Amino acid sequence: MVTKSKIKAELESILPKKNVLSAIEECYVYSQDGTNDVQSDVLPDVVVFPETIEEIQSIMRFANENRIPVVARGAGTNLVGACIPKRGGIIINFTKMDNILEINKTNMTAKVQAGVVVGKLQEEVDKFGLFFPPDPSNLKVSTVGGAIAQSAGGPKTFKYGTTKDYVLGLKVVLADGRIMETGVNTIKNATGYHLEQLFIGSEGTLGIVVEATLKLIPKPETTNVVMAYFDNVEDATNSVTNMIDKNVYPSTIDFMNRNTIKTVEKFYPCGLLTDKEAALIIEVDGLNISMETQIMRLETVLRLSGATDIVIARNKEEQEKIWTGRRASFGATAKLRPDVLTNDMIVPRENISKLVSGINEIAEKYRLIISIVGHIGDGNIHPQIALDLENSAEVENYEKAKKEFYALTLDLGGTLSAEHGIGLEKKEFLAQAVSPEALEYMKKIKMVFDPNNILNPDKIFDL
Ligand SMILES: Cc1cc2nc3c(=O)[nH]c(=O)nc-3n(C[C@H](O)[C@H](O)[C@H](O)COP(=O)(O)OP(=O)(O)OC[C@H]3O[C@@H](n4cnc5c(N)ncnc54)[C@H](O)[C@@H]3O)c2cc1C
Repeated sequence: MVTKSKIKAELESILPKKNVLSAIEECYVYSQDGTNDVQSDVLPDVVVFPETIEEIQSIMRFANENRIPVVARGAGTNLVGACIPKRGGIIINFTKMDNILEINKTNMTAKVQAGVVVGKLQEEVDKFGLFFPPDPSNLKVSTVGGAIAQSAGGPKTFKYGTTKDYVLGLKVVLADGRIMETGVNTIKNATGYHLEQLFIGSEGTLGIVVEATLKLIPKPETTNVVMAYFDNVEDATNSVTNMIDKNVYPSTIDFMNRNTIKTVEKFYPCGLLTDKEAALIIEVDGLNISMETQIMRLETVLRLSGATDIVIARNKEEQEKIWTGRRASFGATAKLRPDVLTNDMIVPRENISKLVSGINEIAEKYRLIISIVGHIGDGNIHPQIALDLENSAEVENYEKAKKEFYALTLDLGGTLSAEHGIGLEKKEFLAQAVSPEALEYMKKIKMVFDPNNILNPDKIFDL
């Protein structure tokens, strides 16, 4: 086994000393990520901040020869323990590789280093009249590398898809330090296997993504936001199909249940109607000239679907006010108990009201405090559970409830994770969600790319 001091000395010969951290307190910070309910007391040996691809290649060659685990890290905001270095080793932090290398208006593509912050990319492409829709809701900090590795989605998935729909090509440093370029910088590609897609959702277990070529789309000329209240969840979910019937195609259809509405209003009052069972936040976009018609049609569909109250934003300020309520839901739920956990199950949309009512019943059975939000247009629900992680009875109840949430989701034809990933948090349930053959081939693929199992070991599945 290679000692910590040998790893440090070797890495200091590869990178400038200032880009190598190894003090206990520094390593402690990088032993955790954004996940509340998965903790580890194992520290990484060294955390490095490379500035070049060549440095990453040298790190990987050294790690592979000496069987040292390597965990890539963006902003560390994933919610499934995907960055936790369970076996110590080296953390490669991407904060110094955050350059946008090219924005090509004609081709509608961007080429970026993996550490680019998603929100920064959105701002920069906006200046060219272009748009990069995938939006993990914490886009002000989360990175493109992290979004690719977690297959991140976000509110605009209903109309625009997730990160996987925007990755055209990748440059990846492989476990042995070689570089693989895969994919293209064109919009279409039917040239052999789409290896670049393998890295999406791979959680850093197959290779270190250093650059990505991303598809961009034209920026919608304008947007507006509508909030609609319903007396039952089923009417709210049915309204989505009714919108499609009438050719209304929103970019976002988000959902808050009664508990969420009440909790937000309690801590961040913004005029929500607390006696309603469900609220939808609907964002529509398109040409300026189309907006009045879109909103009129949407309002009609919502009324026919059973909406009792409809708020149409009249300006940007009112749009923001509507979104503030939705965005405040996690923080508001967090105020109910010392800790808050969230999850991201998804079912075919036709089963979403069964999922919501089933989750409520399970939470009640285990006496959990729960608020439910979600990207209802996609069938994706985020139950937010307020609890005290120091209270073993509450944790035990949560663990039991979680098993039942997943069983219900799978029964309803859905799957474990829509956009957060598997990491350490959900891996014990993976075999229930994928076929034995699929799991077998996932493991074989891992062994092809990383025969020494040094790339983010223990994540997604055990070998
Ligand atoms: C408040 C909050 C709200 C959120 N909302 C959403 C949401 O709406 N939708 C959504 O999809 N997610 C959401 N998330 C989850 C999180 O934002 C996403 O998973 C995000 O994309 C992670 O980016 P990151 O840079 O923090 O990645 P990290 O957490 O640093 O890393 C995530 C994974 O990517 C790997 N990785 C990182 N960089 C690389 C690289 N260069 N090469 C290979 N592997 C790499 C890591 O090893 C790890 O496995 C939310 C998180 C928070 C805290």
